Amino acid sequence: MNIHEYQGKEILRQYGVSVPNGRVAFTVEEAVEAAKELGTDVVVVKAQIHAGGRGKAGGVKVAKNLDEARTYAEEILGKTLITHQTGPEGKEVKRLLIEEGCDIKKEYYVGLVLDRETSRVVLMASEEGGTEIEEVAENTPEKIFKEVIDPVVGLTGFQARRLAFNINIPKELVNKTVKFMTSLYTAFVEKDCSIAEINPLVVTGDGNVMALDAKLNFDDNALYRHKDIMDYRDLDEEDPKEIEASKYDLSYISLTGNIGCMVNGAGLAMSTMDIIKHYSGDPANFLDVGGGATAEKVTEAFKIILSDKNVKGIFVNIFGGIMKCDVIAEGVVEAAKQLGLEVPVVVRLEGTNVDLGKQILRDSGLNLTAAESMADGAQKIVALVG
Ligand code: ADP
Ligand code: MG
Repeated sequence: MNIHEYQGKEILRQYGVSVPNGRVAFTVEEAVEAAKELGTDVVVVKAQIHAGGRGKAGGVKVAKNLDEARTYAEEILGKTLITHQTGPEGKEVKRLLIEEGCDIKKEYYVGLVLDRETSRVVLMASEEGGTEIEEVAENTPEKIFKEVIDPVVGLTGFQARRLAFNINIPKELVNKTVKFMTSLYTAFVEKDCSIAEINPLVVTGDGNVMALDAKLNFDDNALYRHKDIMDYRDLDEEDPKEIEASKYDLSYISLTGNIGCMVNGAGLAMSTMDIIKHYSGDPANFLDVGGGATAEKVTEAFKIILSDKNVKGIFVNIFGGIMKCDVIAEGVVEAAKQLGLEVPVVVRLEGTNVDLGKQILRDSGLNLTAAESMADGAQKIVALVG
């Protein structure tokens, strides 16, 4: 799960990570009020969307007085920001963070990520802050330093100090930086983060070390023990199809292709996407209806796939184990009746009650194409969507 910058900063503050004072605003009036309350000469008006690259896209503006703060708030609120992380359709700004202007001396990068190779949390840092870390990794990889953290010992003082020296933090601020990194790591572990990226971390004119930006992601499987974080969920930032799917306990992820996939089991869902790709098709989604799906759940799944305007055909690929083929067939027929089927559907069924399932599909009078195998089904649906 992803949260907004201002929410991330609230969490970091609880752990003693230094962040600028700021307030969230949903309207222009609230933004001006927030700027007044902060009472600093300079405030920064920051678009809150679940994507980075806002600065370059005009979503971060420095205001030198209340009038400017109002002007920028008017300009940014309601605007659709297109950054390299939002995709071409962009994201509408519905919240602002009004924050104290910070006297930046230098920007750095600090990030905690899970490294799959070592199965450990890695702390990365660079003196090339402010720019995308991917760019730094591409052009000047020697400027990224890493410390692999032992989960039993945690981030040690000497590791944090070594990083601080490697990225050329001014000597007198190394201790503050070590404390910053240690607190960030504690927050990461206690809140079950999957990413904690501070870009930029800044050294300020008055000798502080601060997080000017905060990107925190959380492990969905651990959210049950963090009600405070679940409360931060912003449905406006999520794909409505994915929200609908989560209501029915379906694992659904939108993709960019035109072949809708309805599959049971994550492994089969992955290999279905692979085989579609293999035959030069492009999946519109990943969907796992799960093991014990009811006809109702299958109907909902089908509706969600059909609500995607990019879907030009559907491939139903089911292995009936716990899930029975006749239940799937009933769900498909029910959904098709309710919604009317205008796109071709290829169905491949195998397993428990397969004959009954095929019978239901045949008797439905719907225009469905039967497939004998995964490869056969994939080739058929690719041909049908042309
Ligand atoms: P993004 O990464 O989405 O572009 P950031 O929060 O990193 O957004 O902001 C972009 C840039 O704006 C920062 O690198 C920094 O130079 C500047 N900035 C952000 N917040 C402040 C602030 N409170 N005071 C001064 N400058 C800021
Ligand atoms: Mg940033």
